[in-house]
Amino acid sequence: MNNVFLVCPDNEQLINSLSGYSLVPVITRVGRIASLQRLANKANTHLHCVIIHSIRPLSSIIFNDEWRSIPIALFVPGIGNISSLMNQVEIMKNQNLRVYLSANKDENLTAARILSSLGVETAIVFDQSPVNWNLLRDLAAYAIYNITAHADIAPFGYLKERYNPVKQINFESLYFNDPEFYLHLDDAGRVALTREEYDRGEFISRDVSELATIRDNIKYLRAIEKWREHFLSFDKCACCPAWKICMGSFQVDEEDYNCRDFFLEIMDAIETMLSRTVEKKIVWQP
Ligand code: SF4
Repeated sequence: MNNVFLVCPDNEQLINSLSGYSLVPVITRVGRIASLQRLANKANTHLHCVIIHSIRPLSSIIFNDEWRSIPIALFVPGIGNISSLMNQVEIMKNQNLRVYLSANKDENLTAARILSSLGVETAIVFDQSPVNWNLLRDLAAYAIYNITAHADIAPFGYLKERYNPVKQINFESLYFNDPEFYLHLDDAGRVALTREEYDRGEFISRDVSELATIRDNIKYLRAIEKWREHFLSFDKCACCPAWKICMGSFQVDEEDYNCRDFFLEIMDAIETMLSRTVEKKIVWQP
């Protein structure tokens, strides 16, 4: 099963046992990036991306031009000091980088807009904490309607790019949370289907030897079809008009319709932008 990305700890013994796989090692310090690349090469693995969970803000991370070829998903608590950040913008723009910011802080929603306008790609992380829907709406409108040069803000740019009126889109893979693309390994090589299951210690295999046949595992098969449960239980997602761009990603109260209104607005915005035919303006000719 080599066509799946393995999110794994920074563990040399484990990485050496994953020859032929595409890896997404998780680290907490940028200082490990270059040695991880060497380790992945030596182990005959492919470094799909490096996830960094930094406790420091973006402005205090010193970027290195040598990381340019390494895809990086950088989770930070905030962007920190804007003038220090400006000193690094040029080098950040040249990196294969997406900065992840939690939606639960208002200032992060403003920060995403600043980074986008500076050419740095970001992703808004929706966790279980409450969000400021009005600010989020403003940000989504900026991401979708803005026709001046700016970097993508996920998941809005991703949805706009892949929108198809007759197909559903699952944006969870942007957050490494779709078992069809990403599996989560612990130090012992046990496999969890999502980050949440990993955190709860729910594994579906004993070690890496079971990776090759994981697609036959009944729990795996159930997980990739999990979205169907909304229709079996006929919950609010099952009759949500925004289903095709959200697919039940918000685990909120059955009575709370903020998510539905929000995703409906996103869908309208995308459809409006896609229906725009921009006619070439011809100025007077001699
Ligand atoms: S927008 Fe809300 S109600 Fe609609 S599919 Fe997503 S989580 Fe369910």
